[in-house]
Amino acid sequence: MQFDDVEVAAPPIIDPFGRSISYLRVSVTDRCDFRCVYCMSEDMTFLPKSDLLTLEELDRLCSAFIARGVRKLRLTGGEPLVRRDIMTLFRSLGRHLQTGRLDELTLTTNGSQLARFATELKAAGVNRINVSLDTLDPASFRAITRWGDLAKVMGGIDAALAAGIAVKINAVALKGMTEREAAGMVEWAHGRGMDLTFIEVMPLGDVSGHRVDQYLPLSILKAQLLDRFSFEDIAYSTGGPARYVRVKETGGRLGFITPLTHNFCESCNRVRVTCTGTLYMCLGQEDAADLRAPLRASEGNERLFEAIDHAIARKPKGHDFVIDRRTTRPAIGRHMSVTGG
Ligand code: SAM
Repeated sequence: MQFDDVEVAAPPIIDPFGRSISYLRVSVTDRCDFRCVYCMSEDMTFLPKSDLLTLEELDRLCSAFIARGVRKLRLTGGEPLVRRDIMTLFRSLGRHLQTGRLDELTLTTNGSQLARFATELKAAGVNRINVSLDTLDPASFRAITRWGDLAKVMGGIDAALAAGIAVKINAVALKGMTEREAAGMVEWAHGRGMDLTFIEVMPLGDVSGHRVDQYLPLSILKAQLLDRFSFEDIAYSTGGPARYVRVKETGGRLGFITPLTHNFCESCNRVRVTCTGTLYMCLGQEDAADLRAPLRASEGNERLFEAIDHAIARKPKGHDFVIDRRTTRPAIGRHMSVTGG
C-alpha cells in the first residue's frame, strides 16, 4: 500500500488564531474490546464496516496531512489494535519517518492486544506509545472497563517495554478511586521507567450516571500527591496538552491534562479525523467537516486540501467544558470513542 504522497511545497495548515497544525490524531475504528464507564455506554451501536475508510484511504488521508506539515501522527480509536490488518497501515505510514517528513508515529491503546503487536509496532517505527490504565487493582479495572482483564494489559505493557518502546501511562482521574490509587500508580509507573499522566474526565457522550460523580479535579489530586511527593517544574513537552513535573522522590515525570480546571487551547496544534473521514477541528466542539467525499472524488489531493483549508478556517479558539450538578446533558453528544484520545 503506497501512494504518491508528495505535493511539492504544499503550504502549512494555519488556523485563524495563527496556530499551525502539526499534530493529527486519527481514529481508525469506533470499536473497542473494553466499555470504559466514562467513555462508552454498555450498549453502544457501532458504525457499519462499509462506512469506514479503507486502510488505503486512511493512508492517503494521513499522507495528505503530512504533505501539509503534520509532523506527529497518533492512531487511536475505539481501540486501534482491534482493527483488522492495522499493522499494514502502521508499516505503510512508517515510510514518512524514513523520509524525515514525520517526526513521530504513535498510538493510544488500552494495551489488551499489545503483547501480540509490540514487536511489529517497533519495527514499523513506533518508539513511544500511550497506554490507558486507570487502576492497578484487578477488580476496579474490571469495574471501570466492564470487560477488561488487567493481567492481559500488564502483559502488553511488558511486551512493549521489552520491544524497546517507551510507554506513557494515561490514567483518567475518577472520583472515589484515583484519590486512593494515585500515589501507588506514580511509584509503579516510575519504578518501571514509564511516564504517567492524569487526565480530567470530559463530558463527552451519554454514559450511565452523572459526570459529577466521576469528575475529580486534578487540582485536588495534585494537592493530595504533594502530601507525599515533591514536584519540580520542568519544561518537558511531547507536543500534546500535558504539563509535566518531575517527582523528586522517584525521578520520574508526571503529567497533568486539565481540560476542565485549566484550559490549554491557546497552544492547540491538533486536529482529529474519525474512521469515516470526518475532521473535527476541536475535541470539545461539534463542528466538523467531511473529508471522505473530497478524498474519494479524485485521485489527486486538490479537493481534499481545499476541504481541509475550509475546515481549518473554522477552527475555534477552544472548548468550554463544564461539569456541575446543573448541567445534566453532555457538553458534546459524541462519545470519546468516536474521535479518540
Ligand atoms: N482504546 C484506546 C485507549 O483506551 O487508549 C484509545 C481510545 S480511548 C477513547 C483514548 C483515551 O481517551 C483513553 O485514555 C481514555 O481513557 C480516554 N477517555 C475516554 N473517555 C474519556 C472522557 N470522557 N474524558 C477523558 N478521557 C477519556
